[in-house]
Amino acid sequence: MLFDTHAHLNDTQYNEDLEEVIGRAEREGVTHMVVVGFDRPTIERAMQLAETYDFIYACVGWHPVDAIDMTEEDLVWIEELTAHPKVVAIGEMGLDYHWDKSPKDIQKEVFRKQIRLAKKVKLPIVIHNREATADIVGILKEEGAEEVGGIMHCFSGSPEVAMECVKMNFYISLGGPVTFKNAKKPKEVAAEVPLEKLLIETDCPYLAPHPYRGKRNEPSYVKLVAEQIAEIKGLTFEEVAEATTRNAKKLFAIK
Ligand SMILES: [Zn+2]
Repeated sequence: MLFDTHAHLNDTQYNEDLEEVIGRAEREGVTHMVVVGFDRPTIERAMQLAETYDFIYACVGWHPVDAIDMTEEDLVWIEELTAHPKVVAIGEMGLDYHWDKSPKDIQKEVFRKQIRLAKKVKLPIVIHNREATADIVGILKEEGAEEVGGIMHCFSGSPEVAMECVKMNFYISLGGPVTFKNAKKPKEVAAEVPLEKLLIETDCPYLAPHPYRGKRNEPSYVKLVAEQIAEIKGLTFEEVAEATTRNAKKLFAIK
């Protein structure tokens, strides 16, 4: 069993062949997936998918790149959706200093509002971090995000930062980059973070693992991420698959 904790099957890149993509995932042993919505259209589609497929769950939130577009009505709508039994987390949220569409102060405010919402509705949060580690860790601490915990999605930082996040009740999720030959840090993180605190994801359609790097990613490839972690940790594939699935089910409160 494999749990892809971060998939964007709501992306229009799957409009033509979604059934085939899901079929391949099932054949490779993917038993659970969380589809992440991060604006109006992608949240609506994530909800449709979660309602259509037993093994698909939804995560709903607002992306930091588009923080400037989020209205109060959007936040109320997200809160309403969290009552749905298939909504298991809020996000992806966080800070992205690579793109400058949304000013930093607005990104921070939208991030804080979503953490407060998560605490109110008691759901874990999924963090997107791009070139903003210090500010993210600072805000998580200030807002007491430890109370709900969550996931550092597609973690690309150092093992030291990873362990700081683990201490704040966060899981570290690794994706395709851990399989890249030149990816030193994700491999170090895979080695140092205890298995009980690791999750796996694809972040598809982005960041396809080796040997599909540069191509469209899909949930069946999460197997390659688990295999790589097993190799780094000197464990069997089954041990990593089982532990990361157990971790994800615990975090998302899935039976
Ligand atoms: Zn994502």
